[in-house]
Amino acid sequence: MFLYSTNSPENLVSLKEAVLRGLPADNGLFMPKEIPALPASFFEKLDDMSFPEMAFEVSKCLINGAIPDEDLKEIIDLSMTFDSPVVDVTDDIGMLELFHGPTLAFKDFGARFMARLMGYFVKDDKEDLYILVATSGDTGGAVASGFYKTPRIKVIVLYPSGKVSFLQEKQLTTLGENITALEIEGDFDACQALVKQAFLDADVQGHLRLTSANSINIARLIPQMFYYFRAYQQLKAKGKKLVFCVPSGNLGNITAGLIAKRMGLPIHHFIAATNNNNGVALYLQTGDFPDKKTVPTISNAMDVSKPSNFVRMLDLYENDWEGMKADISGFYYTDEETRQAVKRVEEEQNYLLDPHGALGFLAMEAYQKANPDVYGVVLGTAHPSKFLDVVEPVINRKVEVPERLARLADKQKEAKLMGTDFDGFKGFLLGLD
Ligand SMILES: *Cc1c(COP(=O)(O)O)cnc(C)c1O
Repeated sequence: MFLYSTNSPENLVSLKEAVLRGLPADNGLFMPKEIPALPASFFEKLDDMSFPEMAFEVSKCLINGAIPDEDLKEIIDLSMTFDSPVVDVTDDIGMLELFHGPTLAFKDFGARFMARLMGYFVKDDKEDLYILVATSGDTGGAVASGFYKTPRIKVIVLYPSGKVSFLQEKQLTTLGENITALEIEGDFDACQALVKQAFLDADVQGHLRLTSANSINIARLIPQMFYYFRAYQQLKAKGKKLVFCVPSGNLGNITAGLIAKRMGLPIHHFIAATNNNNGVALYLQTGDFPDKKTVPTISNAMDVSKPSNFVRMLDLYENDWEGMKADISGFYYTDEETRQAVKRVEEEQNYLLDPHGALGFLAMEAYQKANPDVYGVVLGTAHPSKFLDVVEPVINRKVEVPERLARLADKQKEAKLMGTDFDGFKGFLLGLD
């Protein structure tokens, strides 16, 4: 497999280089040079395949020999340890539940696969690889959990003090081993600025081998294709056209779905649902991507105003708005509409949506008004118990927190408190070996 940068299509790199570098030097994003179509035999065998077997066939086809089959199989078997069931909510809408992993959000799929893949690429190296990740909540937990105890890899998570939820903080600060949490006395932007500066600092670069783990890494997109295939496997007997609605922030999730479609998965249409950070929805409606500041919402994992994977979408459609619009529709909703949807769907269908899934559900209903006779799959990107402060007041009852999250409450937090000036952070990094 070879990948190019969206800014310089003529320069090709290997999968290993793309994964370990994360970002190309020219500030583009890595894209696969070829997106091969899966053979007919794959679709004929689909009913008999387990989720990991299917994931293996899909990734094997895409990476085309970049890793020996046996090693790829092992990476998949170790990372794909939970299912993504489709749960019928109405007669023609189902939730694809992506929150059955260790940190209860779909980011577990990407983080676990990326961790195993990076671990594979560096396993024989002499030098440790340091992963710096700034988090506003969910990403850090998934990355920390995914890389936990991976040999040769150390993870440093920076999070804004007092600005992540109690259980999110526990997810970052109670693992120990190769995971170090830095509690930064500033906001998320300050955390991100420190990480960016570390990558630009010659002393740090000379001292540590660094990489990043945010959603621009191609290793996170590959496993995010798998659950689109898993949904199709569960739903094809319905004999209906399938439409996928993706609650969108940085657009990594929907980009993975678009690549799955290019590989031959019969997806009739996509919907990008957003909150009031609605650049992509407006682009799809009007052809213009507005330049707006990020506004905080109750679906905070989607509070992104400059989605990094948008350039990948443009690249897939060769900047053709008409072409993209034919495949993807955009809808956006306010916090109040989101709350109403959580309440209504709980009352009428006895299904509890989280705020992100609720936006997706609203968008799917709107699409189906004009386009009946399709089956709608909404990606359930997080478990509602991750957003108790939003959900409980709306439905007026307590929500049960799954054991794997609840048990963190009693664990001892370990984090290093740090200011926002770069010198302190740099000193910390230079003290590592
Ligand atoms: C990250 C996240 C999203 C947005 O996904 P993108 O791939 O960034 O578009 C949506 N919902 C939840 C719960 C998330 O954690």
